[in-house]
Amino acid sequence: MTLKREIYKALEDVVGPENISEAPLILGSYAQRTRPRFEAVTLPQNTGEVQAIVRLCNRFKVQFKASSSGWGAYGDAGGPGVVKLDLRRMNRILEINEKNMYAVVEPYVIYAQLQAELMKRGLNCNITGAGSNCSALPLAAHQGIGHLSVSGSYGERNQLALEWVTPDGEIVRLGSLGSLGQWWCGDGPGPSLRGIIRGNVMPLGGLGVYTKAAQKVYHWPGPSTFAIEGVSPHYNPSQIPPGFMIRYVSFPSSDKLSQAAHKVGASEIGFILMGFNPAMMASNMATNNNEDRAYFKQFTDLVQGPGFLIIMAGNSPSDTEYKKKVLQQIMDEYSGKSLEPVEDPKNAGGFMWRFIRVTSSIREVARASGIFAGQVGGTDVFYLMHQYILRSSPLKERLINEGRLLADGTDPFVQLVEHGHAGHGELLIRFNKQDPEAMKAPAEVGMFANKTAIEGHFGVPGHVWGDAAHDQYGPHTSNYHLWLRKIKKTYDPNAASEATNYITVND
Ligand SMILES: Cc1cc2nc3c(=O)[nH]c(=O)nc-3n(C[C@H](O)[C@H](O)[C@H](O)COP(=O)(O)OP(=O)(O)OC[C@H]3O[C@@H](n4cnc5c(N)ncnc54)[C@H](O)[C@@H]3O)c2cc1C
Repeated sequence: MTLKREIYKALEDVVGPENISEAPLILGSYAQRTRPRFEAVTLPQNTGEVQAIVRLCNRFKVQFKASSSGWGAYGDAGGPGVVKLDLRRMNRILEINEKNMYAVVEPYVIYAQLQAELMKRGLNCNITGAGSNCSALPLAAHQGIGHLSVSGSYGERNQLALEWVTPDGEIVRLGSLGSLGQWWCGDGPGPSLRGIIRGNVMPLGGLGVYTKAAQKVYHWPGPSTFAIEGVSPHYNPSQIPPGFMIRYVSFPSSDKLSQAAHKVGASEIGFILMGFNPAMMASNMATNNNEDRAYFKQFTDLVQGPGFLIIMAGNSPSDTEYKKKVLQQIMDEYSGKSLEPVEDPKNAGGFMWRFIRVTSSIREVARASGIFAGQVGGTDVFYLMHQYILRSSPLKERLINEGRLLADGTDPFVQLVEHGHAGHGELLIRFNKQDPEAMKAPAEVGMFANKTAIEGHFGVPGHVWGDAAHDQYGPHTSNYHLWLRKIKKTYDPNAASEATNYITVND
């Protein structure tokens, strides 16, 4: 289906002929595998142009979908007759407010940029675990959980004031922006729309376009720039910043891991805490597949069971000493063992830089020796998430024993959010994409994990998006899916915001 000339011309009048295309080559570059292609791609440069495009889509009864840096798997057309808003021309950091500790960005600012600017000012931000190549808009990230979430929280909580072009083309300014023209608060005065614009995950393109957003930022005790040497992935800070320390600590059992993580949270010593397994640690530093396999074997042989990666950042010499002592005490109490190659000064600086700048996610997830998928997972109370993953794990183990999944060293993947105020868990699976039998395994694991989540009352996991998943979980969760559809219908009466990955309304 090609857009009617009248529609194309109207869109062209908004963005100019050089900022719209329907060339197959261009549309192909936005397509995901066998999914439908967009009818046209537009490059709006400001909120006014976004609003004009959204209004035209409503008028001509075509759909639209926005994307920021386009890293995620959810920005696809979803169906025929959809116009893309690629927001790459909206790429400015609008404000960094040092005193009140927030930053305001447009959608195409990436986290690597924002974090570098913040560090110059003694500040830092949470970054989606997908990598610092992603949009610095908390509302572009799926959950916005990442390496820094133990000290820097996550998308839902960091979101402050917001400028939103609603699906029918209104501009809504949420929080203090709407009442005072300031960015520091995402909610009042007055009723908050936080629960409308996102829940556990964001609406994945299905509820209009976010054009500017403020987020909370955090204290950074490190240097204003990372002076680095070397070649990727072995960029190394020329020295490990004073007061910083990195360890990978493995435990004899997942129970001990969980208790130790709790203690790390209670004592607030973690700057980064991630439940990486040996396969992910290996791929973080490997430069080729053979190295990857060799490190994987070395790390798997050295760990005693599941573990976590921890980076600590001292604010003063006595704070550094305190944190070191607390970690040692936790390791002694729960029989934790340090993985020596990680603390080895030859490797420690590189690991630290890659985790703090969040540069190696793609290698941790996708590599020739097996794709990783966070097949299921959620964010809730840490203990609950830990139990959920453990209850879902036996199937994974069986599939590994049957040779349909690849071993990855350990389970589960757990992390703390806000020093244990919340927690995140994932059942990571690793499989060979060339093997047709292996390709059936993710669906099998997913079905089992859904059953476990529903029967065990483990909440609504992060992989729940789209009609089928909401319809499966809603009836067990206060019928939230009915409310979500009411929200969708109220804010998007013409169903203009393409919502395959959110929720759709059938009258
Ligand atoms: C390898 C990998 C690892 C990942 N790991 C994590 C992880 O650890 N934690 C986590 O939370 N997520 C993770 N994800 C998911 C991740 O959050 C998103 O993929 C990522 O944040 C997308 O960023 P982006 O800026 O490229 O957004 P895009 O890909 O551009 O968009 C993502 C979604 O948001 C919508 N969207 C984007 N911008 C706007 C906007 N301005 N207005 C309205 N809708 C918009 C899009 O339509 C799309 O549905 C991972 C993904 C990958 C591929």
